[in-house]
Amino acid sequence: MEVIHTVAWMKQVSRQARTENRILGFVPTMGALHEGHFSLVRAARQQCSPVVVSIFVNPKQFGPSEDFQKYPRTFEADRAALEKLGVDYLFAPPPEEMYPRGFRTAVLIEGLSDRLEGHSRPGHFRGVATVVLKLFEIVQPRIAYFGRKDAQQVRIIEQMAVDLDLDARVVACPIVRASDGLALSSRNVYLKGPDRQAATVLYRALEAVRREIAAGQRDAAQLMVALRKVLQTEPGVALDYAEIVDAETLEPVMTLRRTCYFLLAAFVGRTRLIDNALIEQDGESFKVSL
Ligand code: AMP
Repeated sequence: MEVIHTVAWMKQVSRQARTENRILGFVPTMGALHEGHFSLVRAARQQCSPVVVSIFVNPKQFGPSEDFQKYPRTFEADRAALEKLGVDYLFAPPPEEMYPRGFRTAVLIEGLSDRLEGHSRPGHFRGVATVVLKLFEIVQPRIAYFGRKDAQQVRIIEQMAVDLDLDARVVACPIVRASDGLALSSRNVYLKGPDRQAATVLYRALEAVRREIAAGQRDAAQLMVALRKVLQTEPGVALDYAEIVDAETLEPVMTLRRTCYFLLAAFVGRTRLIDNALIEQDGESFKVSL
């Protein structure tokens, strides 16, 4: 595996792959890698060669009071793990390489960016879309892999790819969870002592929703009641938002239809976690993927 730190060299490598008509697969990350990231890498390895992974803790997607400074950074371990997984190139640019002095451009995906996560974290998706478009320009992927754990993010990137006629195909991969259901996240290292156990309540609440849906419930308000009932059993957990939305528009729905997401964000102590369920219509019934 070759580690690349400059935009110019990364572009050179991707240009070469394109000339050779190879299918370049790309997995953008912020490092502190875990099995969630590795699942994306494995998916890329199955379909693409070469595989490029980027590690870049993007300052533009963190709010002023967020955890940019203390975001976990484990470069050496990440590098070793990616090498073992058979990744071809690790692109790890320093911030000044991505945002040289005088950088001014931003990407805005109207309507999808300011709701839900975007409402709680103003400017977050502006930062995400900007860096992902830049990375796509540099890496020139044929296929880019994202986790459904960040469902709104995937939806926004998909829309950006359509609107801007990007060549990259965006693939969404399932959520990887710990054995107790907690969705893997680089931020889980913040969960100390009893918070780690309390954090499983997000999964347990979504499981309760899944049971309600299996029992025939289709009403969003009633499903919300089922979710809150479980969340309330953990007093240290404070809900930020919970919404059932259409998977395409991300607008709230009153009753389940077609494909929806049940999206939620909650504070466990001081750690903010997100999770979601994908709800897909299948004839008369609905399939719920956690
Ligand atoms: P991050 O490093 O947090 O920016 O995440 C990089 C990519 O990994 C994003 O596409 C995430 O959605 C994805 N990802 C993070 N956690 C998980 C998980 N538990 N399961 C699946 N994908 C994940």
